[in-house]
Amino acid sequence: MRKKIVAGNWKMNKNLAETKALLSELKTKLTGSTDAEIIVAPTFTNLHSAIEVLEDSAITVAAQNMHQAKNGAFTGEISADMLKSIEVKTVILGHSERRAYFGETDKLLAEKVNAALEHNMTVIFCFGEELQDRKSNNHFSVVENQLKNGLFHISSGDWKNVILAYEPVWAIGTGETASPEQAQEMHAFIRKTISEAYDQQIADEVSILYGGSVKPNNAEEIFAKSDVDGGLIGGAALDTESFAAIVEAI
Ligand code: PEP
Repeated sequence: MRKKIVAGNWKMNKNLAETKALLSELKTKLTGSTDAEIIVAPTFTNLHSAIEVLEDSAITVAAQNMHQAKNGAFTGEISADMLKSIEVKTVILGHSERRAYFGETDKLLAEKVNAALEHNMTVIFCFGEELQDRKSNNHFSVVENQLKNGLFHISSGDWKNVILAYEPVWAIGTGETASPEQAQEMHAFIRKTISEAYDQQIADEVSILYGGSVKPNNAEEIFAKSDVDGGLIGGAALDTESFAAIVEAI
């Protein structure tokens, strides 16, 4: 049975005091409220404190990015080993903002995926089409290529450490969400693509999250779709009440 997961991507929001306050509230509010796995991804500077605040909680912590190299002259970067050394075992890779604003290509992402998996980390691999891709009916091939070029080099055994997050770029932070039917259609396509490249068991067992303007008022109908195993939440993850309501919707 694949896992239900709700993950919050905090992006470049919340200083240390704000991070601790939000996590304390979430810890109280979410304790025992769900069987789903809950992940939060604060910014790098607050990861260590997040781990400490959540020590006695089931909520786990992810980084929003990492560098592909083991170590070395890469000013300003963070390695997998550094994340592991503070007990961060999950990393978001391939978010559309990293692709668009920081030039992250499928090839680079494949290297980052390798570095994370070599360190036995779990990867939340993000991908999704832009509006023009959907308008020109190219969304399936764009998604297929992102998966093939960024992820499908991994071994069958590595899939147990992968969570997928389908995030149509046109729905991220825009207030416009994919309809539950559009999400289901793409998630089913992703599962089929994995089953063809690997096998049905891997396709059936991988959790595929939907991301893109998930809010308390639309989470339930999106999560109800059979191939949607949860959500990657941006804006609505920054507020205790709205994140808790989304968690409860799963
Ligand atoms: C995201 O950044 O991954 C995201 C889904 O953002 P939002 O929920 O704000 O659209």
